[in-house]
Amino acid sequence: MSDASQHFLFDDADLRGEIVQLEQVLADACEHHQYPQAIKRLLGEAFAAAAMMRATLGMEGTLSLQVEGEEEAAVSLLLVQAEADGGLRGTVRYQREPRQGGLVALCGTGRLAITVEPEEGQRYQGVVGLDEAGLSRTLEGYFRDSEQIPTRLHLACDGERAGGLLIQQLPAGSGQAASEDPDAWDRVGYLAATLSDRELLGLDSHAVLHRLFHQETVRVLEPRSHAFRCRCSSGRIAAILRGLGREEVEQILAEEGAVELRCEFCGALYSYDRVDVAQVLADASAPPGSDSYH
Ligand SMILES: [Zn+2]
Repeated sequence: MSDASQHFLFDDADLRGEIVQLEQVLADACEHHQYPQAIKRLLGEAFAAAAMMRATLGMEGTLSLQVEGEEEAAVSLLLVQAEADGGLRGTVRYQREPRQGGLVALCGTGRLAITVEPEEGQRYQGVVGLDEAGLSRTLEGYFRDSEQIPTRLHLACDGERAGGLLIQQLPAGSGQAASEDPDAWDRVGYLAATLSDRELLGLDSHAVLHRLFHQETVRVLEPRSHAFRCRCSSGRIAAILRGLGREEVEQILAEEGAVELRCEFCGALYSYDRVDVAQVLADASAPPGSDSYH
């Protein structure tokens, strides 16, 4: 199975893990864009991170990772979303060819927002400053400071394949093994740190887990598959159109004869002529959109 993630548990320690490997998702996300290699790598790492973080939520809902780049940075927006059904989508808005790769080199010293939209209940958001050392360190910082859950993350992407490994302490009170094995966190962390990007991207997930943890008792759960899936729809796009305001829409109509909005995630083109626009603006009952289009 190419695009999949797996949850695993350490029987003798209060630790859990996720491993993810993606290829087609990244290819589909890049299909309608000519991303430079450094941006593909960042996008791939963000997909891997979002898929694993979504899996740790323990509830249905969407998890988004969003970075708004600094004004002068090559990347102005990185947005990746993971759904409970394994669907992933993401996009990068960039204004010039980057000189070098890496989160801070591409985005500047901005912030990363982690947003969780549960199927039921309140949406919540955490924000963390970008770490020079990359996306994995940035997210480790988020788990440490905002969630108080010690977490180790390894993310890798070569532009075509993306992979991720996450090791996390179980939330306090949810296990009892730690008291019997106080060294587990350090030992497992040490083992996890020996993983190379090449192994994470080249070996299958069972081989990675065996290579790292063959001396531990690891329970591997059923794999989940991932695919690129966009949530755009005419209803959501209509909401964006309404969000532009009548004045701007009228102006575009006068100049162009139609209003065209392209979904930044999947490249789908939504076109509205004067009749369509009148209908959309008259129908204010649809829910507001929070998507990204240009
Ligand atoms: Zn779309």
